Amino acid sequence: MVLNSPRGTADLYGKELTYRNFILEKSKKLFNRFCYDPIVTPAFEHTEVFSRSIGQATDIVQKEMYTFYDKKQRSLTLRPEGTAGVVRAVVENKLYAQNLPIKLFYAGNMFRYERPQKGRMREFFQLGAEAIGSANPLMDAEMIWLISDLFSSLGFKDLVLLINSMGCTLCRKSYTQKFQEFLHHHQEKLCPECRHRLDTNPLRVFDCKRQSCRHAIEDSPKISQHLCSSCRDHFEKVRRYIKILGINCQIDHSLVRGFDYYSRTVFEVVSTALDSAQNALGGGGRYDDLVKQFGGPDLPAIGFAIGLDRTSLLMQQLGIKPSASRELKSLYLISMDQQYSEYLLELLQFFRKECICDTNFNIKNISKELKWAQKHHYDFVAIIGEEEFKNCRVSIKDMQKFKQHAFDWKNEKDTILALLRGN
Ligand code: AMP
Repeated sequence: MVLNSPRGTADLYGKELTYRNFILEKSKKLFNRFCYDPIVTPAFEHTEVFSRSIGQATDIVQKEMYTFYDKKQRSLTLRPEGTAGVVRAVVENKLYAQNLPIKLFYAGNMFRYERPQKGRMREFFQLGAEAIGSANPLMDAEMIWLISDLFSSLGFKDLVLLINSMGCTLCRKSYTQKFQEFLHHHQEKLCPECRHRLDTNPLRVFDCKRQSCRHAIEDSPKISQHLCSSCRDHFEKVRRYIKILGINCQIDHSLVRGFDYYSRTVFEVVSTALDSAQNALGGGGRYDDLVKQFGGPDLPAIGFAIGLDRTSLLMQQLGIKPSASRELKSLYLISMDQQYSEYLLELLQFFRKECICDTNFNIKNISKELKWAQKHHYDFVAIIGEEEFKNCRVSIKDMQKFKQHAFDWKNEKDTILALLRGN
């Protein structure tokens, strides 16, 4: 008798594998350009790692985890997602003791006991990025930029970026009460599961795919209209920064994502070409309380994950073919004041199209930053100080030749490009 692979799993070979490897290679190059380091964590963890972080009342923890007892009766779970394991590893290995933010990326198989269908598997492959240790809205903008550059570097053109803010613990609490009151008034329109969620975790009603439930919450209070002033300011800055980066987004008031750990900015990339139940290619958000929940220091964080199975499926469906790329130089960008944030963003975007480029949103002093760049063997350092900012210039230092020159940002882009390309 021939044995089959378990339901919801797949063998990958031939064309399928070429697509998966292409997506992995492209994204590794992009993460390298944005200076994210790789991390590998176990495919299974103590069950508590997920139940504590993702949330007891979520579908994942309630119904979808592959949980088992090992021979010593320890409860273990195959990872249903990547963030919880990465945060556990950062806390356990005290990775936060280095220069913050820590910027990491991972790729690996995930496991959820879902009803398998096209684009929805029980074993699937995700890659994701996490930045731990910065509350700066520039960090949110960088994450959104990274996910959107990832899809455009793969050749996608017409994807939609949805964005929302879920507020902090304080404003979310008062919003949740208002939303719960609204649901109580409309509970006869909700499915039995959502009626139960209404008491256990009302925000999860947003995850329900049933048309009747979606309809019932159409006129519910919107979370982004109940933000405290600091969350509102944060959300406005994120939207302004991504606009500067030329990224279009749509605010989606019902976007709350399926895990409990999210706070403030959440986002999702969807395709109109895929079946609406499986149209999300990737998404993420801030999780400012999670590191602390895992027993680590109080460090804000943000991340995202994309699904390779769905991405590869859509590439093939749209006729996007895998293609090749070239070697890159590295540049470290130093902005000496928070006031230059928008100029910094414009320069970062330019450099990251051309080379491996990093900066530190948590500004320190210039000599420390220069030492950091030297220690990490950057080819160039670019500096935005007061003079540069006022005169719209950028000073670029060649770290091998020890030569520095201030370029006119508006008129000398071609000369800068020639320098970075080594022409
Ligand atoms: P999530 O971790 O639920 O935010 O999902 C992030 C991305 O992973 C989604 O946008 C999908 O592309 C992918 N994904 C999630 N669940 C599955 C699944 N069961 N099968 C295939 N891909 C999935």
